Order: sequence, then C-alpha cells, then structure tokens
Amino acid sequence: MAWFLNHYTCDRCARRWSDEWSCTCDDDCPHCGARHMCPDTSEELTTVIQAEGTDFVVLWSPETAEHDPDYRELGRFKTFQQASEFIAIS
Ligand SMILES: [Zn+2]
Repeated sequence: MAWFLNHYTCDRCARRWSDEWSCTCDDDCPHCGARHMCPDTSEELTTVIQAEGTDFVVLWSPETAEHDPDYRELGRFKTFQQASEFIAIS
C-alpha cells in the first residue's frame, strides 16, 4: 500500500481541498457534501524526506498502512541531497 496526498476540485461548488489516503480514491466535498469526487492530482507520499533538527530523515509508509501512513524511519542524513540519493537507489 502506498500513501497519497490527493487534491480535489468539487464539480458542484468548485471549491478545492486536499486529503491524505492510502489510495487515490474518491472523497466527499467538505464544503457542500457532494459525493464521490475524483482527485485532480495525486502526490505519492510513500517515501518522504522530513527535516528534523539538523538532519534529514527518510520515512517510508509500509504495505500495512491503512488509516494513517504509519511512517518508519529508513535513514538519517546530514543533507537533503544525501537523503534523496538514498531514495533513488533503494
Ligand atoms: Zn462542493
């Protein structure tokens, strides 16, 4: 299972919102309640780099994640560059 940040635009009221899901699934409009809106775009957040103090931590959402990403720490690096290289090879 992956983790996604989905961006939606409501067909009925044209307002926008974002939500995190374990899939690129439909969501209900939080403004007018219109059902089953499809995401316009989805960003995959399965592997993320998070700045923590002076370190950059690589986090990964395991297959078992369902209701929240349940991030596990894969590595801790001194620079963003090192962290993204680590993701690229793993
Ligand atoms: Zn709406």
